[in-house]
Amino acid sequence: MGKSMFSGIIASSGVAIGKAFVLKEVDIHISDGVLDPSEVESEVARFEVARSQSVEQLEAIRDKAAIKLGKEEAEVFEGHILVATDEELEEEVLEAIRNLKPADAALNSVINANVAMLEELDDPYFRERVADIKDVGRRLLKNLLGIAMVSLEDVTKGTIIVADDLTPSETSQIDLDKVEGFVTNIGGRTSHSAIMARSLELPAIVGAKVATDRIINGDNIVLDAVNNKVLVNPDALTLEQYHALQVSLEEEKKALAQLKALPCETADGKRFELCANIGTLKDVEGATRHGAEGVGLYRTEFLFMDRAQMPTEAEQFQAYKGVAEAMGRQPVIIRTLDIGGDKDLPYLDLPQELNPFLGYRAIRMCFDKPEILNTQLRAILRASHFGNLKIMFPMVISVEEARRLKGILAEVKSALKAEGHPFDDSIDIGVMIETPAAVMIADLLIDELDFFSIGTNDLTQYVLAVDRGNEMIADLYDHYAPSVIRAIKRVIDCSHEAGKWTGMCGEMAGDEHAVLLLAGLGLDEFSVSASSIPRVKKVLRGQRQEALEALADKALSMATANEVKALLNAFVQ
Ligand code: PEP
Ligand code: MG
Repeated sequence: MGKSMFSGIIASSGVAIGKAFVLKEVDIHISDGVLDPSEVESEVARFEVARSQSVEQLEAIRDKAAIKLGKEEAEVFEGHILVATDEELEEEVLEAIRNLKPADAALNSVINANVAMLEELDDPYFRERVADIKDVGRRLLKNLLGIAMVSLEDVTKGTIIVADDLTPSETSQIDLDKVEGFVTNIGGRTSHSAIMARSLELPAIVGAKVATDRIINGDNIVLDAVNNKVLVNPDALTLEQYHALQVSLEEEKKALAQLKALPCETADGKRFELCANIGTLKDVEGATRHGAEGVGLYRTEFLFMDRAQMPTEAEQFQAYKGVAEAMGRQPVIIRTLDIGGDKDLPYLDLPQELNPFLGYRAIRMCFDKPEILNTQLRAILRASHFGNLKIMFPMVISVEEARRLKGILAEVKSALKAEGHPFDDSIDIGVMIETPAAVMIADLLIDELDFFSIGTNDLTQYVLAVDRGNEMIADLYDHYAPSVIRAIKRVIDCSHEAGKWTGMCGEMAGDEHAVLLLAGLGLDEFSVSASSIPRVKKVLRGQRQEALEALADKALSMATANEVKALLNAFVQ
């Protein structure tokens, strides 16, 4: 393959150089003959060997995942082991072999029949099991046919993973000592694997569409997740330049690390709160290492994903308490469940919708299924006794909703009091500002609340009516649009007039140029992925607040996003 280059979406920034390891599924050919009765015994033995091999492999993967990622993530593989050791399934295969089917054909027909049967059932739990059975069935078949398992376990040092997509369980198997980065055909910045890559601080480009077509195993790859380029077999000079860039990025990282203990303030002493976005307890380590002053967004959805049923109150309590304790007196803003839109929970059996982003999601779904919110609020309140927690609700559009949420919270508090559970009775409550409706009534909403946090990922899509996940209109999705900037200004001003504060937990808060503008607009708190913390601090420490306010004033008078960007570029120069 000659020199080639393509781009995608930067999921996690950095530069990685290495050899390609392409994860591609091979075609499996199933035998179509009939056994001679004398062969039955050896076919049964062949199946049993493949079965125990599969169980051993799955146990090893589970144990590794438990050490690297914790018990929650390892549970996925527990489910796989249950399928592989299922006695009914085994008996069905043996029966088919005794009816003179070769072992692979027997296994294949049993798996297909079970999948078809479960897909028919109107039960979300069983439908969820279909994926597990398909996965395990493929593993059994490959072991049976002696097809090498393409596994992330097999990668050697200095690898760049190239895949169509990486599932959360695949991402969890990545060995950071060997893998330098990954590039996938599908996915976006807010997809599961992208968020995991950022918390692993692993350079990654997703949504590159052609990665598995353009790259073959062993190609030399430069993954430039700073300038959004994937280079395939670059020439020696280019490689040399990238090695030099890696060295300078490493030096920059070290220099930035020096800022860890310094406050996030401008040269003339205007102070900002600089926090981290997290998805799980494990992300707290990175947040603290980079000097986060708190957690500005704890996306609780991750606790609800990759499992077969809702986490119980006890499980949620443990998770929230863990984060609260790990952060000590530093604030942790826990967002209640934000499911729907592009985030599905198969066991909830949510309806298919024509406009899922305008549909049954977040608190709307929670109002409809009160036990979900009730359980979560109980767990959060109980955990509030162990740290400094705040509660944040996503996707609010009206004062009625804010009042209703407060009413539910008050009821939960009364119940906990009656049961004698200790909790922080004066816990702060805020909402995410993600909808134009919330922006327009920010002055009314803030009277009900303690704070706002602007979710620009959604706010941008709703203000502009541009789907955040649709690559055909990706060029229209722009948080520098004057409409978006004016919305942000209004929200900050409304909170300040009421003596309250506004933070931002959308991706815009980590955009180096946007940071200047946001500080000038008076934003009080920035909540960004942990690895972006040092850079945001550096940017702000190099400026005077007065200058940033003048810059923001000018930006507000600009007529187009490009003018705003040009203004910021010129300011930075
Ligand atoms: C947002 O919408 O900006 C946000 C932070 O929430 P999420 O990306 O989880 O929708
Ligand atoms: Mg959102």
